[in-house]
This record gives sequence, structure tokens and C-alpha cells, in this order.
Amino acid sequence: MSILGTNERPLRVAIVGAGPSGFYVADDLLKQELRIKVDIYEKLPAPFGLVRYGVAPDHEKIKKVIKIFEKIASNPRLSFLGHVTVGRDISVEELRKFYDAVIFCQGAEADRNLGIRGESLQGSYTATQFIGWYNGHPHYKDCQFDFFHEVAVIIGQGNVAMDIARILNSTQEELSKTDITKKALEALAESKLKEVHIYGRRGPIQAAFTPNEIKELGQMADCYPVVDLKDLELSQESRNEIHGVVNSYRQKNYEILQSYANLPYDSRKRKIFFHFLRTPVEIVGSNKVEKVRFEINELVPEAGQQTVRGTGQFEEIPCGLFFTSIGYAGVPILGVPFSPSKGIIPNRLGRVLNGQRAISGWYVSGWIGHGASGVIGTNKIRAEETVRALIEDSRDLVPCENPSTQAVKKLLKSRNIEPVTFIDWKNIDAYEIMLGLRSGKPREKLTDIDQMLSVAQGPQKLSN
Ligand code: NAP
Repeated sequence: MSILGTNERPLRVAIVGAGPSGFYVADDLLKQELRIKVDIYEKLPAPFGLVRYGVAPDHEKIKKVIKIFEKIASNPRLSFLGHVTVGRDISVEELRKFYDAVIFCQGAEADRNLGIRGESLQGSYTATQFIGWYNGHPHYKDCQFDFFHEVAVIIGQGNVAMDIARILNSTQEELSKTDITKKALEALAESKLKEVHIYGRRGPIQAAFTPNEIKELGQMADCYPVVDLKDLELSQESRNEIHGVVNSYRQKNYEILQSYANLPYDSRKRKIFFHFLRTPVEIVGSNKVEKVRFEINELVPEAGQQTVRGTGQFEEIPCGLFFTSIGYAGVPILGVPFSPSKGIIPNRLGRVLNGQRAISGWYVSGWIGHGASGVIGTNKIRAEETVRALIEDSRDLVPCENPSTQAVKKLLKSRNIEPVTFIDWKNIDAYEIMLGLRSGKPREKLTDIDQMLSVAQGPQKLSN
């Protein structure tokens, strides 16, 4: 039997998902003393997941992390296999025949739903649909949003909701030099929106947004935030939640909201309203969204984190556009344990659990293992935990039957699947940058998978 990770043969690891957690896990694995080879599987032809398709186009700085991922990808012990869907094109059981360990890093790509009446009405959208659309995600390229309404409602007060509010209210000048798609830029230019209302079910102190993100809403060219001073009156319990270093962001949030409540008259065209202590109970409309009905809440004191209870009083707001932004959940892969209530693969310190038992050779990292929280860099810390678990287990791993990437590719070829390599991706990358240059943008993303695959072949193949 060959010894994994020695000179006799390297330890072979498959990573599922080429987003931030996948790259951080790969980086950490490749830095280990054991000899390790890593293959990253990605269902889209393009890598970088959340950074390419989730981060807002005007958050250019956050996207700079791609340079680090590119450096990781240049390691000769790493291969990228794009446009391969694990669980469909190749099962996890099959993967295990070619790899000594599999690490699931596919993120959390589904929206959490409210589960209220009217959610499927025309004019009601999820965060994933809107963000995927303006960021050029191939699955959402054909979404259509009716921006001819004057009022939009967003449910949820996390940073994703702040992204949605900001992009909805940005001017052409603010967006035209970003990598937002041409289609989204043109559609938003025609928008008749005047008001965006962001609703949270708890109070201003409990809101999930962070100071930098709400500060941005006060610095927009043609839009300004509106906060009702009355909403900022705090109970003693809420005051207690501001104290301490871990709560310093809440103190800052509160100060920013106070400054918004005290703003003088503003001539900017659009407004973003913050509302608190409101739970949506129904989206009303005959076949499209006409209004949203809310129950007014009160905070219920509880140690650490206050919850809410309905007061039995209701209010409504007329609107034509409705967005749900209440967090993300993972999507199960056939044959892999999954917790539907948490939207994650159950695990202990990165080891995938079947009940209480860890499955040998199966690991998880990032949002699919911990839930959708934290910033891009949080994945780095979680990657270290998962890699530590794998290294600790490495002596006991059952070696795979066929330690060869060529053999996996042969199997995929027999199914008419030709993985996109990192060199192929760089062809797409160069092409997008070239398209972007024409309009002064960092890139114009390709959103059609067939076009991406043909551009991936390189300029010579394209011109034939
Ligand atoms: P999030 O931070 O978890 O916020 C979810 C929001 O939805 C909260 O306000 C939550 O309220 C509310 N909510 C949940 N269930 C609800 C329900 N049934 N009814 C009404 N409201 C409900 O999630 P997110 O905004 O999707 O962000 C995900 C992660 O990405 C976060 O860690 C975020 O900071 C990060 N992110 C960062 C940036 C950035 O750094 N610029 C940008 C985007 C996202 P409760 O608190 O009451 O549950």
C-alpha cells in the first residue's frame, strides 16, 4: 500500500467549489509538509464564486482578493476543473475513487424564504436573483426586474440588503466604471424608483448590518437615508446590548443612524427608509405585488440577544418591487449529509458527520459548513480548522483506488464533459477584460455558458 503524502505518492484531495473557502483550503493544504495534490471542482466555467458573483460591483477593493486566488491557482500541484457539477456529472462516491479526501466548499447559494403568502407574485424577488443578475451569474442572466415602480421594499437588515439598496439607488456615474453587466446598467438607468424601504424585524441595535455598509448609504450621489428619530428610542435592555468591545459595531451603527435621523432637508432624488420592529406577514396583490402587510413587533428581553413578539397591530405599505434578503442556505449534494433546518453539511471541526459519526475522508469548510456569515477573510480561519482535521486524520485515510486526475478526466469525457482548466479560464478572463476596456469598465462579464465555453478555447479557436 502506498503511503499518502510521502514521496511514494502524494495525498490527493478534491475540493468542491472554487469560491473563497475553496481557495483558502487549497492554499492551506498546499503549504503543509505532506506532499499534497489538489483538484478544485467548480460547476461554472469561471472560478471565484462569491467574489465574482456575490460581492457588489462597486466594492472593487474586496474583489482584489482574486489576485491572491490566482497566485494559489498557479501552484503546479493544483488543477482547476471548471464546468463540472459534483453530484450530477460525477457522484461523490465516484470522486472518492480518485481522491483520498473530498472537501466540500460550495458555499450557500440558495435564499432563505419568508414562507408567507404572495412570495411568488410577479415583482417579488430574492437577493440571489437580483445580485446574480447584476453580477452576471449565468443562472440569473435572464431575470427581469420591473423598475418602473416608484417604491421598493427590502426585507432583512444584513449587509446583503444594504448592497441591494445601494445598487438600486446608484446613479449611472456611480456604476458605469464597475464590472456590473451592461444589461443591468441599462435597465437600472431607466429606473423610476424614488423610495426603497428596508425592514428589520428587530430594533436598530439588533440589526445585522455593519457601520461601513450603512455609512455608504449616506454618501450616495442622488439618494439619501431616512431614519425616524422615534425608532431610535432605546429600552434599557437595548442599551445594555451596545456595551462591550464585541458590540462596538452596534454603537457605531447607532451613531450613524442617529446622524441620519438628524439630516437637514436633502435635495437628492431618491430616499432609503429604515424601518424597525416589523415582520412581513403577507405580500398582497392579485397577480403582482401591490403592497406588503406587516405586523408591528415589540422586543422581548432575553439574556444576550433580544427576540420579538407580534403586538397584533398591523400596517401596510404600497409597493411594486419586493426583495427578500434574509440570509442564505446551502444546497444539498446527492449522497452527502445535509441539515435542511440549518442549510449546512453537519460537521465537527470540519469533519462531515453522519449522525454523530465522522465520515472518513469527507470534510467541509466555509458557508456550507458554518452557515452564511462573516466576511471573505473569515473563510481563511475556517479553512485552517478543516485542513488541521484532515492532516490529523491523514495516516488513517483509506487510500483511493485510482489516484489519477487523468483517470477522472477520462471518466468525465465518457460523459461528454470537458473540464475548463485555469488556462481556459484565463482566456475568458482576458476576453472579458478586453470587452470591458471598450466601455471603460474593468471587465464585461460573459453570462452565457456556451459563449464562455467557446471563448475558453482561446482566440485561435474563436476565429475559426
Ligand atoms: P445576515 O447578515 O444574516 O442578515 C439577515 C437579515 O435577515 C437579518 O436582519 C435578520 O434578522 C433578517 N431575517 C432573517 N430571517 C428573517 C425572517 N424570517 N423575517 C424577517 N427578517 C429575517 O445575512 P446577509 O445580509 O445575507 O449576509 C450574509 C453574510 O455576508 C453576513 O455575514 C454579511 O455581513 C456578509 N456580507 C458582507 C458584505 C460586506 O462586507 N460588504 C456584503 C454583503 C454580505 P435577525 O437578525 O432578526 O435574524
